Amino acid sequence: MSTKPHRKPLPPKELAIFQSLLPRMELSPQEKQHYENLKKGYEGELAFYSLLQQTGLKDQLILYDLLLQANQTEFQIDSLLMQRKKIFMFEIKNYEGDFYFQQDQWYVATTRKEIRNPLLQLKRSEFLLRQLLQNWGHDVSIESYIIFINPEFTLYHAPLNQPMIFPTQLKRFIEKLTTSTTAVTQKQIKMAEQFVKNHQDQSIFERLPQYKHEQLTKGILCSTCTSLLTPFTYKKLRCEKCGCEEDLEAAVMQSLEEFHLLFPDRKITTNAIHEWCGFILSKKTIRRILTKHLTLVKRAKASHFLYKQ
Ligand SMILES: [Zn+2]
Repeated sequence: MSTKPHRKPLPPKELAIFQSLLPRMELSPQEKQHYENLKKGYEGELAFYSLLQQTGLKDQLILYDLLLQANQTEFQIDSLLMQRKKIFMFEIKNYEGDFYFQQDQWYVATTRKEIRNPLLQLKRSEFLLRQLLQNWGHDVSIESYIIFINPEFTLYHAPLNQPMIFPTQLKRFIEKLTTSTTAVTQKQIKMAEQFVKNHQDQSIFERLPQYKHEQLTKGILCSTCTSLLTPFTYKKLRCEKCGCEEDLEAAVMQSLEEFHLLFPDRKITTNAIHEWCGFILSKKTIRRILTKHLTLVKRAKASHFLYKQ
């Protein structure tokens, strides 16, 4: 996973893997549910990001998707806004529909199913973040909030005076934050770098569905509807289902990226990608595209390609 500064929410690698697997194999209802949750979470973060981009906060130092460790405990932060004297930590929830709160517990209204109390989760992350900042020797206060980003969310019997921002309050909340912005200082930049440096790579493979190369449907997926594309002209592929056309070269590169993501240990060869693309293009075309974008490592028997550094 990238260790670059996360100045924008990135789609989690896990989500990208699911997106590639979904049209290529049968997933269990639990796996599909997990995928939906991941997708929703990411959409929520993007919505929050876009909202901030429209305000005076867009030039502030904000980091997204940090996975950190304090006292040997991992914790995740959706978004951090670093101001001169204060750090704001945001946990973004894309809950949709009616929920209710009863004796410190949260339930989905329609099913009465209990969900994890997000306030406890917030407290835990805040505690660990404070530990981490102390370990680093920073004297800075933290203010943390749960942001309910989805306008279709309602929480009945919501407790008062809790660090929760509901959809109807979000605009005012951001306006208030905007008024306290100051120019970003060198000290803040250093701290942001420290966060990025300490960002942990997530070990996602244990949470993924089991999949094998042999069992997956091969072919190039339509980026709109994830059906399989077929050759159209010599520069374009076409989706029979939704009718969209895609640039052949870009589509092959996208497919290659999926191959590499799903099977990081497999060598990228003309034959492997020829097969992965469902044999719909000639080997010559595949080789031309790989040669153009990747570095060829020549071996007597097993030449393969590497991504350019
Ligand atoms: Zn399509």
